[in-house]
Amino acid sequence: MSEKLWRKNLINIEPYVAGEQPKNDKIIKLNANENPYPPSPKVKAILEGKTIAELRKYPSADASVLRAALAERVGLKSENVFCGNGSDDVLATAFRAFFNSDKPILYPDITYSFYPVWCELLKIPYKTKSVDDDFVINIEDFKEPNGGVVIPNPNAPTSLGVGEKFIRELLENNQDSIVIIDEAYVDFGRYSCVELVKEYDNLVVTQTFSKSRSLAGMRVGMAFASAELISYMQAVKDSYNSYPLDQIAIETAVASLSDEDYFKATVEKVKATRDRTAKKMREMGFNVLDSETNFLFAQHEKLSAKEIFTYLRENGIFVRYFNKPRIDNFLRITIGTDEEMELMLEKLSEIC
Ligand code: PMP
Repeated sequence: MSEKLWRKNLINIEPYVAGEQPKNDKIIKLNANENPYPPSPKVKAILEGKTIAELRKYPSADASVLRAALAERVGLKSENVFCGNGSDDVLATAFRAFFNSDKPILYPDITYSFYPVWCELLKIPYKTKSVDDDFVINIEDFKEPNGGVVIPNPNAPTSLGVGEKFIRELLENNQDSIVIIDEAYVDFGRYSCVELVKEYDNLVVTQTFSKSRSLAGMRVGMAFASAELISYMQAVKDSYNSYPLDQIAIETAVASLSDEDYFKATVEKVKATRDRTAKKMREMGFNVLDSETNFLFAQHEKLSAKEIFTYLRENGIFVRYFNKPRIDNFLRITIGTDEEMELMLEKLSEIC
């Protein structure tokens, strides 16, 4: 086929590879950072109350009920909230809206693998900044002139978070660019900077219902930012699609937000399981980073990540390992239920 038939830069794009989907329900799936618990019973009630006839109608064009509920939860206004089909969609919209300078955008070298995909696709120049040997992000690296900054907090796949001091210093030193903080895992961590939206009009904070709210299949994500930045995101959102979210997604997300007790209880359960699992893995000779997420990033002192991955896979447990420089010997293990983690630890103990 003639080269003219596709955009040349697409050749450089490495499509994001999602965790392998098991072929049956018996597989323990710990490879996509999904929540092991179901969404709130209030979500179930919404779905059970639906009639097929409702699908005739278009959804709310601006997801106003959801935006209002989200704004209220974090002490902002609806005009400070943008919603999209998962935070991937929201992040892609923000990249499209804000990263259009000749200067490169900056993000850590070990981070969420979608950032380079969007940069290549949208022809955004970028420069990665090396995290240190302990995978810590150095604030000094993010003080040079740039066309924007993206930091996931906590970072993935390292599972490490930064605190308020880091984020404030980042914002103070980047007042002429847009700073995106990707908070996909923040509910399992220690610090969300969403409050700083009131202070910094160059800050965009993205979050998701996929992890802490068990709604990955529903595809709901959001951004919080100044009203001006949100208006630009509205302007470029999937260009002329007036309906960024479907009606069922809007209503289930609102139902999830109305059940704060359930949300807090499941997050606490995942965190407790995470910390117990990390402790036991350390006793087996793993270096496990101090996770602020719903997954563990770990390396064994003797066995390779690939060996462990393969053994677990043969025993019906799917985890991730990374075929990339610096992290090629690390496993990323999503936190499942206590029973799932016990089984995983049992299998690890057979080889470690
Ligand atoms: N940011 C990070 C750091 C992630 O790991 C993920 C999940 N793969 C996302 C954003 C996107 O999640 P979602 O689109 O499901 O909201």
